[in-house]
Amino acid sequence: MTAKAETISLIGAGLNGPLLALGLVKRGFNVEIYERRPDMRSVRISAGRSINLALSTRGIHALSEAGQWNEMRKIIIPMKGRMMHSVTSEITFQPYGKNEAEVIHSISRAELNIALMNAAEDQGVRIHFQQRCTGIDLKTGALQLRDERIGEERTIESRVVIGCDGSASAIRGEMLKLSRFNFSQQYLDYGYKELTIPAGPGGKHVLETHALHIWPRGNFMLIALPNVDGTFGCILFLPFEGADSFAQLATASAVIKLFQSRFPDAIPLMPDLADNFFANPTGAMVTVKCSPWHVDGRALLLGDAAHAIVPFFGQGINCGFEDCTCLLELLDQHGADWRRVFSEFEEARKVNTDAIADLAVENFVEMRDRVADPRFLFRKKVELALEAKYPQLFVPKYAMVTFHRIPYATALKRGQVQDRMLTELCDSVERMEDLDWSKADRLIRSQLTPLEMVS
Ligand SMILES: Cc1cc2nc3c(=O)[nH]c(=O)nc-3n(C[C@H](O)[C@H](O)[C@H](O)COP(=O)(O)OP(=O)(O)OC[C@H]3O[C@@H](n4cnc5c(N)ncnc54)[C@H](O)[C@@H]3O)c2cc1C
Repeated sequence: MTAKAETISLIGAGLNGPLLALGLVKRGFNVEIYERRPDMRSVRISAGRSINLALSTRGIHALSEAGQWNEMRKIIIPMKGRMMHSVTSEITFQPYGKNEAEVIHSISRAELNIALMNAAEDQGVRIHFQQRCTGIDLKTGALQLRDERIGEERTIESRVVIGCDGSASAIRGEMLKLSRFNFSQQYLDYGYKELTIPAGPGGKHVLETHALHIWPRGNFMLIALPNVDGTFGCILFLPFEGADSFAQLATASAVIKLFQSRFPDAIPLMPDLADNFFANPTGAMVTVKCSPWHVDGRALLLGDAAHAIVPFFGQGINCGFEDCTCLLELLDQHGADWRRVFSEFEEARKVNTDAIADLAVENFVEMRDRVADPRFLFRKKVELALEAKYPQLFVPKYAMVTFHRIPYATALKRGQVQDRMLTELCDSVERMEDLDWSKADRLIRSQLTPLEMVS
């Protein structure tokens, strides 16, 4: 590596910024982070969108590489599967994985953010709060910053800038002005609202702790993830317009009525439902695709800034953290040859981030609708049975994405082949005993090659 003491400017101290900073300082760089919000450790602000997040293998790998996973273990709750709540309050449990090790982890977004910022600062990263990036000269790297406390603008010189500034990235906004910059954004017709289920007596969870709870209702749903303080962070997903939509929920009584009729077992658990509902904003969900992600070895987009996805596979931050892993590996290979590193980074990641973007949209239908269908649950059982018999050949799509580091593009492609196989095997069958194993054997051996496992 040539320029050991080179200074890298990161925009955004959300989740990816501080994690990337940790990897960069470990490799001898100086890192300055500019963040538009105040420091959430001293000012009570919303940690951003969802209250808690589901962390899985890709995210855990990146945190382990940064030496942070052991610390995070203190603030996570393993979730073993989905707990489905029907409209008549029946409960069905569906495990996520093939064994107890295949779980996902609920973590508070704010706690994760704070832990990463603390760790980064401990390693010498400087985080400048209330410094909004308002632009960048992509020819020189000069960054324009506004001090949000006093409204003063200033320009700083920076050799390398990495935009970790989320789905509405200011750095991407500047790239958009360049010729031949490809950009698309696709909003869902659905919005989301964060709600809370308070802790019960003695700070205990009032629902099963080790599960992600879902109230699937066809074209909308409520989900709840456990927090270590006994509360659940909930998200209500509804269409913006039409029947059973946010547009219909203008009064407290309309909110209560919807919950009474569609989520009857949730309503006694949410005493502050209406207040909660009107105190929190209604969020929008967008898929952003763009390219190129870099300009002249001087500026790069990473995380949501490069590829925001909808939240239904629980992969946004896992994917962003995998970006960090990939970028740091390339730096180890090529040193500070930024042009090459940025270019190989995009080449390695873009095909995979496009794939997880598509998988995430597809998973919305699965979560809000199909999980309530007994045929779907049967297919899930068959998937696990096939995996048990052919562990190198047949790994369920959910597992490829969540419990392995198999490239997302591979998971998407194999998942499509496996979906067709499952349709062929399950459509005329009601019980596991009736599954045609010789047909399964033939299909699997002829259509799937052994998987290179990356756990
Ligand atoms: C409802 C919902 C649920 C989700 N659930 C999950 C989940 O379960 N699992 C999962 O893996 N992912 C989940 N995600 C996705 C995850 O939240 C994002 O992928 C992740 O936050 C992206 O991290 P980031 O650091 O790239 O961007 P962000 O977390 O958005 O951070 C960007 C930072 O940049 C700062 N910033 C923005 N503009 C500027 C500027 N001009 N100047 C200076 N600073 C700026 C912001 O203040 C912020 O701190 C969910 C998302 C949503 C919306």
